[in-house]
Amino acid sequence: MLNGKTAIITGSTSGIGLGIARALAADGANIMLNGFGDAALIDRLKKELAAGGIAVDHHPADMTRPAEIADLVRQTAARFGSVDILVNNAGIQHVAAIEDFPAERWDAVIAINLTSAFHTMHHALPLMKSRNWGRVINIASAHGLVASAMKSAYVAAKHGIVGLTKVAALENAQSGITVNAICPGWVLTPLVQKQIDARAAERGLTPDAARRELLGEKQPSLEFVTPEQLGALAVFLCSDAAAQIRGASYAVDGGWTAQ
Ligand code: NAD
Repeated sequence: MLNGKTAIITGSTSGIGLGIARALAADGANIMLNGFGDAALIDRLKKELAAGGIAVDHHPADMTRPAEIADLVRQTAARFGSVDILVNNAGIQHVAAIEDFPAERWDAVIAINLTSAFHTMHHALPLMKSRNWGRVINIASAHGLVASAMKSAYVAAKHGIVGLTKVAALENAQSGITVNAICPGWVLTPLVQKQIDARAAERGLTPDAARRELLGEKQPSLEFVTPEQLGALAVFLCSDAAAQIRGASYAVDGGWTAQ
């Protein structure tokens, strides 16, 4: 049980991050939510999580802004007394060939999907070291292990975070701090729904046909991974049983990277 521990989950107002926040909260951790959303959504999520008896707050740090990331870690420690678990999850996608890829989108994908994890760890690791316990979980992707055309920035960022995970794990190998990555395949979140909608529009498919085609191209199980499944793995990685799992990248991808 994670009672008394505090978790920051970046990008936890939606999708996978929210699934992980719910799972960590259900296991007893206090939660600092982060991510975009209107006040009503954030209020509803805070109330939902707090109903389980844990403490919860939200910090609006934009993951492209290092000073705001520093403030997220600082405010979490001030509010809850420690930062024990850090889930680097915030992420965006942009799909285009390299020659058409706007440089501004490249910078945004690298900043949010990769560089923000450097900044969160830079500030949170000293706090974990002071208590000789910590868990960092980086949400990479099947695209951290293999590539797809049209996703240069995303694939570069996700391969980068798999490497960053290994370095951070090694630098803390003789401590109670572990650092690991989770590499999901397709999860039906707003990030993927946009790609399904684009595919349906481009090829004149129904949303259902576009969804089936998307899965069929990459994910042999033909089923989406769920945020609940990823939340359960995150809880396991925070447990004592996972204390010697260090620098690993867990594929949870319906067989995508087994091919
Ligand atoms: P999502 O769009 O549902 O959620 C993204 C979250 O990140 C939201 O809370 C959003 O507000 C937040 N966010 C976006 N930009 C931000 C910024 N600049 N600062 C702070 N927060 C920001 O997406 P998701 O599918 O749940 O993706 C979560 C993570 O999982 C991403 O890193 C993504 O690359 C990864 N992932 C997703 C899939 C998938 O199939 N959905 C597969 C593999 C990996």
